[in-house]
Amino acid sequence: MARRAFASSADLDEKEQKLEVLADGVYALTADGDPNVGAVEGEDFLVCFEAMATPVAARDWLAMLQEHTDKPVRYLVLSHYHAVRVLGASAFDAEVIVAHENTRALVAERGREDWESEFARMPRLAKAADSVPGLTWPAVTFSDRLTIDLGGDRGDLVLQYCGRGHTEGDVVAWLPKHRILFAGDLVEAEAALYTGDAYHREWASTTLDRVKEFGAEALVGGRGAVSRGREAVDAAIEQTRDFLRVMIREVGAVHDAGGTLKEAFERTHAALNPRYGRWPIFEHCLPFDVSRLWDELSGIERPVIWTAERDREIWDLLQD
Ligand SMILES: [Zn+2]
Repeated sequence: MARRAFASSADLDEKEQKLEVLADGVYALTADGDPNVGAVEGEDFLVCFEAMATPVAARDWLAMLQEHTDKPVRYLVLSHYHAVRVLGASAFDAEVIVAHENTRALVAERGREDWESEFARMPRLAKAADSVPGLTWPAVTFSDRLTIDLGGDRGDLVLQYCGRGHTEGDVVAWLPKHRILFAGDLVEAEAALYTGDAYHREWASTTLDRVKEFGAEALVGGRGAVSRGREAVDAAIEQTRDFLRVMIREVGAVHDAGGTLKEAFERTHAALNPRYGRWPIFEHCLPFDVSRLWDELSGIERPVIWTAERDREIWDLLQD
């Protein structure tokens, strides 16, 4: 069998970006399975959600946004620490960068390694990689909830921690007035899950329960199309949960039986492939996903730091 190209290194075709106006002053940019971003207008300022991988990539998004509003960015909210979501931050000229307190700690602990790992895994997203001035440091952090008053009659934007999931510091952004939820990578709509830094069992249970409790009428996930209507929102949440549950069941069975990581990968791949195999980044993610879940089931509480070298080792072990 031909060797499979490492992660997303061979995925070089530009995706079409689409800016959608979800409500007055509420914007989402989706990109055919590439990471989504969003923005919400306050009375005289903007809140941006996610920063993209590089300042050059972010500038394209900001130019599209400026066709709708010229308000300055007061808050840049980071849903979690992953490099392709945060390293474009300098382009926003935000007054304040906001994230969960665990996200700030993760940037300090593993931000540098994650940068090298992710840019090698997804070179297309790392547009003009040398335009990144350094790590992105949140200035304001919180543990449970932070509410931003949007001013006028625009209502609030509520930033909420729902428990550990895709990482140990994911937050969602909720607009009660419009019932719109920006869920970050806690929910994917018809895109494969990356769980290499995840807490699978908590994510699949209480964390997704809390995400579902918002009762959103529209949901912008980490990747994939905007889910519109309660049925579509719940379907995206339950697809995410199903992906995790299949992984937990299949990896768990091999782990309990004293099998190997390679066997767990093959069995999980076979179980997920019929439903999820065609979704963006499925082949890219699965070796890293199974490796982390194997560790989690082995009692390794916190995800081992991914480095460019470790990425290659796991890839060569599982995807060859
Ligand atoms: Zn992520």
